[in-house]
Amino acid sequence: MNYEAVIGLEVHAELSTKSKIYCSCTTEFGGEPNTHCCPVCTGMPGTLPALNRKTVEYAIKAGLATNCTISPFTKQDRKNYFYPDLPKGYQISQYDLPLCKDGFVEIETENEKKRIRINRIHIEEDAGKLLHGEEDNNSYIDYNRTGVPLIEIVSEPDISSAREAKSYLEKLKAILQFINVSDCKMEEGSLRADVNISVRPKGSNHLGERTEMKNLNSFRSVYRAIESEIARQIHVIKSGGKINQETRRWDENKGESYPMRSKEDAQDYRYFPEPDLPPLIIKNELVERLKKELPELPDARKQRYVSEYGLPEYDAQVLTSSKELSDFFEETAKQSTNVKAVSNWIMGDMLRILNERNLEIVDIPFPPSYLVRLITLIDKGVINGSTAKNVFDLMFDTGKDPDNIVKEHGLEMLKDQSFLLEVIEKVIRDNPNSLDDYKKGQKKVIGFLVGQAMKATKGKADPQILNQILIKRLED
Ligand code: ADP
Ligand code: MG
Ligand code: ZN
Repeated sequence: MNYEAVIGLEVHAELSTKSKIYCSCTTEFGGEPNTHCCPVCTGMPGTLPALNRKTVEYAIKAGLATNCTISPFTKQDRKNYFYPDLPKGYQISQYDLPLCKDGFVEIETENEKKRIRINRIHIEEDAGKLLHGEEDNNSYIDYNRTGVPLIEIVSEPDISSAREAKSYLEKLKAILQFINVSDCKMEEGSLRADVNISVRPKGSNHLGERTEMKNLNSFRSVYRAIESEIARQIHVIKSGGKINQETRRWDENKGESYPMRSKEDAQDYRYFPEPDLPPLIIKNELVERLKKELPELPDARKQRYVSEYGLPEYDAQVLTSSKELSDFFEETAKQSTNVKAVSNWIMGDMLRILNERNLEIVDIPFPPSYLVRLITLIDKGVINGSTAKNVFDLMFDTGKDPDNIVKEHGLEMLKDQSFLLEVIEKVIRDNPNSLDDYKKGQKKVIGFLVGQAMKATKGKADPQILNQILIKRLED
């Protein structure tokens, strides 16, 4: 029998408000442990929470950007559980009346677009961080993160593979960054995902028993954890076993998961309405105002790249996958007459170099206008394509503009016919058989000799002129 996977994601995103959700402490990442906290966010008896208005506005924006309905009446609830990173003994969250519900985002699968429905988006507070000392066997607690505002975005189980889950997460990340409500830095835990996975016989419309893996904080972990869990579940079922509803822990180093605890039900949390906070009435005017404030979203921008710049869908997709990348492209494209070349340089060499040097877009040491200039130098025939790649590398090394680099290193294309002929004569002298081979009909000799001549000119020869002269010389 064939099985298919059913996957639902619960995504937590830290909102980029200045202060925390129920007090005025900073939300800044890092800092000396326990310096970004106060009696409210450390849960001291007698303190009272006061809701940060921006949290609600950011969450509504996230809802609007993901096609949700915004609830006119909503409230906050206590989710009770005991854990040292939760000083109050409960988390203020939302239970039966989430702020946003019934939305969707569109993802691109291999050959079609697919809607992933969003069940709800609610606001809640983040917990602190437990640090387990490796040397002294003690556990330490840092409350700097306690009370940082979160949205939890809960999808319907519409996702069918690890790849779709990754696309969904990438799309959510892009949306939240575009609307500027979260920095979505996965490496700092600003965006993390719980994945719920079950399998069922292909075509069945019955949901299988699911497991959950919490707090995955990289695209890679999400992808690998899902692949591994699908395989595990199919194996268990095929060997006659049963899937237990449980929470499992993903070990990124070992590449496997193991059971952590049996899953808790809602009743285990003894939810009840937060008595220290009044219900929220969300006025239509507020929603309308926030709607107007929404910038162009990734999907719209993608369509515009196709219609305005005539880029292929694929390019438009890659270039709008993150806000920084998209902004960098846009700045460059605006100033250039060769937008396809801009796209190629950004998607190709630029992403490769960033990846090799472990850099982010913000670390690029030169402005977009330098890339425009580099492309102009190629288009005007000042440098050839392979030299341009070296120049681009040097731009990353030095932050200097391409004109300067070309001058400094003498990288202009060599077009002088008599000089290039000399080079070719020498290459032929050094490879005496090549002429005979060519006369015998071995045309690939051309490629070889061009390569040698290029090498002799340190890659600076004008390839077109070089080719012409060489063929003329061989035919003589
Ligand atoms: P809980 O709050 O107990 O975690 P929910 O019903 O709110 O449970 O669902 C949480 C997530 O699990 C949602 O993203 C949902 O789509 C997903 N989910 C629910 N049932 C299944 C299932 N059988 N297989 C895969 N995912 C599921
Ligand atoms: Mg859950
Ligand atoms: Zn505080």
